[in-house]
Amino acid sequence: MSTYVDVILPLPLKQLFTYAVSEQEVDEIQLGMRLAVPFGKTKVYTGLAVQLHNQKPLHYEVKPIEQILDEAPLVTKNQLQFWKWIADYYMCSLGEVMKTALPNALLLESETLIEWNKETEIEPEALDDEEFLLYEALQKQNALKIHEVMQILDKKTVLPVVKRMAEKGILILNQELNTKYKPKLKKYIRLTEAYSTEKALPDLLEQLSSTPKQKEALLKYFSFSAKTKKPITTKDLSEKADVSTSVVKALIKKEIFEEYQIKQDRIDFAIAKTRAAFQLSEAQQTAMQQIEESFETKEVCLLHGVTSSGKTEIYIQLIEKVLQQGKQVLFLLPEIALTTQLIKRLQAFFGEEVLVFHSKYSQNERVEVYRHVLQQSKGKIVIGARSSLFLPFSNLGLIIVDEAHESSFKQYDPAPRYHARDAAIVLASFFKTKTLLGSATPSLESLTNVKDQKYGYVRLDKRFGNVQPPKIELVDIKELSRKKQTTGHFTKPLLSALEKCIEDGKQAILFQNRRGFSPILECKTCGHSPQCPSCDVSLTYHKHNNSLRCHYCGYSMAMQTKCLACSSPDISTKGFGTEQVETELQELYPEWRIQRMDHDTTRRKHAYDRIISSFENHEVDVLIGTQMLTKGLDFRNVDLVGVMNADSLLNFPDFRAYERCFQLLVQVAGRAGRTEEQGLVLIQTYNPYHQILQQVTTNNFKLMFKEQMYERKNYAFPPYFRLIKFTLKGRDYNRINEASDWLASYLKQSFGKQVLGPEFPPVARIKNKYHKNIQLKIAPKQSVIKSKKIVQKALNSFEAVGQFRSIRVVVNVDPY
Ligand code: ADP
Ligand code: ZN
Ligand code: ZN
Repeated sequence: MSTYVDVILPLPLKQLFTYAVSEQEVDEIQLGMRLAVPFGKTKVYTGLAVQLHNQKPLHYEVKPIEQILDEAPLVTKNQLQFWKWIADYYMCSLGEVMKTALPNALLLESETLIEWNKETEIEPEALDDEEFLLYEALQKQNALKIHEVMQILDKKTVLPVVKRMAEKGILILNQELNTKYKPKLKKYIRLTEAYSTEKALPDLLEQLSSTPKQKEALLKYFSFSAKTKKPITTKDLSEKADVSTSVVKALIKKEIFEEYQIKQDRIDFAIAKTRAAFQLSEAQQTAMQQIEESFETKEVCLLHGVTSSGKTEIYIQLIEKVLQQGKQVLFLLPEIALTTQLIKRLQAFFGEEVLVFHSKYSQNERVEVYRHVLQQSKGKIVIGARSSLFLPFSNLGLIIVDEAHESSFKQYDPAPRYHARDAAIVLASFFKTKTLLGSATPSLESLTNVKDQKYGYVRLDKRFGNVQPPKIELVDIKELSRKKQTTGHFTKPLLSALEKCIEDGKQAILFQNRRGFSPILECKTCGHSPQCPSCDVSLTYHKHNNSLRCHYCGYSMAMQTKCLACSSPDISTKGFGTEQVETELQELYPEWRIQRMDHDTTRRKHAYDRIISSFENHEVDVLIGTQMLTKGLDFRNVDLVGVMNADSLLNFPDFRAYERCFQLLVQVAGRAGRTEEQGLVLIQTYNPYHQILQQVTTNNFKLMFKEQMYERKNYAFPPYFRLIKFTLKGRDYNRINEASDWLASYLKQSFGKQVLGPEFPPVARIKNKYHKNIQLKIAPKQSVIKSKKIVQKALNSFEAVGQFRSIRVVVNVDPY
């Protein structure tokens, strides 16, 4: 009887794929292992075994697998269950989930590009034959594809070799040609074999009697290694045992010492615990008790604590308790809030127990964390961005989602378009454990769940140590510019406050919700602004390289001196970004140290951390930035926060705009005055009487909640209704109209007026593709599962229409 294995392939196709396996392979294969499988005529993919059975597929010829890639399962049963939930709920394929869930380095496929990692020091002699052949080939060519590797090695099963070399850090796989590696292999020294026995010692000393320095070095080496009992580097010897590097080199030349390498984790685990737990304040203790009580009856608890109320200290103590039960903890944060600051704080307390997982880490670093979690070999606490939900936990005892209101927990592209906060709650339930959501500005969704008694609720409304909340004031730009009390984009009150702050030796933060210098160039004669040729957007002016850029596709051209339409030289910039704020301020105060933090200045791996630490060390007086600097940063010396223009936050075409504006301003304000002195927040605006800005200044969360919920109910938006958004994409304008009309009317048959659109979004063309949106609103009483079934049927019928074959439909469940 023949046997078959069903595998998930990392493709956007809904079905599983069946391959044949031999009798011997059946014994070896365990579910959750990776298999190399052929696909199409020439392709090879890494598939994941999910089922063994005896049913021969009826409709196609079954091919045998090529190779089993693992000795033990790489993916656990819990993970598979979680993948299935994600695929069902967010309406995508298991293959798409697999692609997001596994670090890329574990997912070899025939299109994978392979490069030699020039930063790993490796001696060609240390390579085996196959490795050496690849080494040679990669000296001549920069990159190879898997099928080329097959030709070079003259065999089909090459994934195991490539996998091994990638995991050793010798090869780099395509997705990360740009990221820099830290060399993985460190060089140590030891006595060569000939001299490493005790018997050889007298001879050796005798031999060195004519070179006293070398003899002395050798003796120092002995006593040092006896003391440390650890592998020794040349650097250790010179720094800690006072042996000069040149003497070591001489000894290597004489073949008394030799260099060797030890496989090392790229992530430095040797982190010592440096602090004990703080004594929690009364308020913190009460909050902690309330959280634990709420966990007795509810799965989720919302900790609503103002910024700087000491939430993190509560997390630390909760984590400590879970560790004592021998369980794992997942601490989720938005990507951007995963700063060295917070990581250091946790490491100071938990030392090596902390593993970090986020996208700025290289592929290989991510693989290491993955394996540590899988084997439970190191680190019980994972602190990570949303994708750390997919790590192979086996013994999870608590999930904490900090800054739980953050919209960046949602993945927009590619599928799975999941929301990490919501998915975390489901994951916790698979482990029969609890989720703690923490925020100073919870989302309306979470608060609604509290009102409905689904979540527990714990409030901390005072800052720790009775530090006063900052004073928040609105500054009327219109009024002041009428009175000529503005300089550039700064009003007089903001400039005076800045001057006082810097004179007092304090630091300030300025917030502007836009990067670039000045988004748009506009002709004053004819009104033309240069547009991106492939997208329907105006190009943005970037001062530092004097260029105009498209933020959607990256297209750029040189800055123009004349209007492209009418040749008038009278052109100017409209709107302003962080770069312009920086330029204006520096011109006014040349002696101030000003630093900008936005997308442009933080592209490189460590740039973000560097800016933060130079601000922490007071090497910078004023930090100017975008949203980035609202996220959970704790600066001791900031007395003033200025918001350059709050109006751009209010004028967003999105039902959540007001909620987000409120959250953002409260979060930015939270950066001010974290010590004894009361901080000041100045918000410049053209609409000082706007209800949301008023609610921010009076800290009236309740009123904001009430008003916004009223609006949501009126307009049938979340949290009352659920949304599914469909975006159709295609090159042909007429076809996209036809297709979206077709899909909308199909949906309308079942959902009637709950289908909105189709309509073009504000930017209707991106990279030469038209986008058109349809939104489906699901009423509170309707079954979500049934509705999704109808949606799936609609999508299947759509796919069957021949003339729509060139159109892609992106489905986004809970799109905002
Ligand atoms: P949040 O996470 O709510 O913003 P933090 O946990 O960062 O607040 O606390 C704010 C500041 O107060 C931090 O500098 C923290 O070290 C300090 N802090 C909080 N709780 C305690 C405590 N129990 N004892 C001493 N310092 C504390
Ligand atoms: Zn013009
Ligand atoms: Zn573009």
